[in-house]
This record gives sequence, structure tokens and C-alpha cells, in this order.
Amino acid sequence: MISERSLTLGFGGIAALAIGGVLYRYRGNGSLNGLCTILFIAGAVCVVAAIYFALQVRKVTSFDLSCPFCEVNNILVDAPNEDFPCVSCNRMIPIVEGKALSVSQVRCGYCNELNYYSDKTEVLLCEKCNHEIPIAVGDTGGPKKTIPAAFVVVDDEALYELQLVGQGHKTEELIQALQHMLALNRNQVKAMLAELPVTVLTGITRKKAEMLKAQLSLYDGEVEFHPMEEARR
Ligand SMILES: [Zn+2]
Ligand SMILES: [Zn+2]
Repeated sequence: MISERSLTLGFGGIAALAIGGVLYRYRGNGSLNGLCTILFIAGAVCVVAAIYFALQVRKVTSFDLSCPFCEVNNILVDAPNEDFPCVSCNRMIPIVEGKALSVSQVRCGYCNELNYYSDKTEVLLCEKCNHEIPIAVGDTGGPKKTIPAAFVVVDDEALYELQLVGQGHKTEELIQALQHMLALNRNQVKAMLAELPVTVLTGITRKKAEMLKAQLSLYDGEVEFHPMEEARR
């Protein structure tokens, strides 16, 4: 915003100086002298202001914070000191001391939807069916949560490949999500969608695969993932 203002002022100032210069050159009998002076002064003030604002731009820092849920980069002006909603997935990003807490994944015992919790989570309600997913504070009094083992998403050592096997009606949203996820252009993504099933990503962790699957299923993308060893067999 500031740099925009600086540019507008800079161009305005230079234009005023130029017009003033042209008028001065063809001032004729001197009747335009007053106007020339005003243009020169206004132009000079604008240029000085433009330089001032341009210097201000450098003072505004930017702070990048990757969303622990969807891994989209959130650009802030400063380190956050409280939880804030992610620009992409809208989930509240848990902040402790200016840093985002890492989140763990858990499947809802009622509807099997993938949910997330952090050490800050006190009550976890399923994002899909609104049932409470039990997380109990550990006996040690520490912040560690314990949840029924069956629902915890375990991150194993294997690497996975993610396949898109089908799509629903939200084609536009799906294309945009894939563009973002894979850093491809629109035509590349469209070409991929024309040849389903297609391998979207390889060599990713289970946690990442679960997350991307949950993200794409928001847009009716039908996703499967397999350990890479098995996929090759
Ligand atoms: Zn997010
Ligand atoms: Zn649920």
C-alpha cells in the first residue's frame, strides 16, 4: 500500500515538474511564471514525499508463517502473538511465542473425518459431524494429549504416492487447489484431470498424504494413496 502511494506521488511529482519545465520554456511574456513556480514547488514536494514513503516501505517487515494444517504460507507484517485464522483453510493456527505449534492428526471415531489438534486444543469437535473427539490430558500433567489409539494417524517410515482417481462437480475449485498444491499452471492441471487416475505426488509422508487427501476431498477429489514399494509391485 505504501509503495503504491510512493509510486503515485513520484510519477505525479515528475509529471508536475515536466509540465512546469515545458511551460517555463514557452513562457512567452511571463504571464505563466506564477503557474510554473507552483508546478515546480508541487512537483518537488511530491518527489520528496515519494522518496520518504519509499524509505518507509523498507521498515515494514514481512513475516512468513506456514500453516500447520494446510502448509499454505501466511504472510503477516509481524510475528503473531495470538492464534489467527489461516488465509487458506480458515482454521485457527495455534501460536505460542510467535511460532505456530505443530498439529497432530486424528480421525473422528464417528465419521472418520480427518481432524487436527495441537497442544493448545482443549476440546476437539469434529470438523464434519461436530461430535467431540476425546482428547485427555496426560497423567504427567504435561500438555501431551492422549487419544484412543485406533483413531490416531500414525506417521510411519514409508513414503507414499498420492493418486487422484476421480473428481466430482467442483472442477473449478479442484483445479485451483491442485494448481496451488503442485505449483503447476492451469493447463497442466487440466491435462492431468483429463487422464484420471493420475499420480499426483510421489515420495511423501503418510501425514502429508492424509492431509492432501483431506484437502482435495473438500473439492470432491477422490484420492487414494499407497506406500511406494507396494505401488511398484
Ligand atoms: Zn491453513
Ligand atoms: Zn466426525
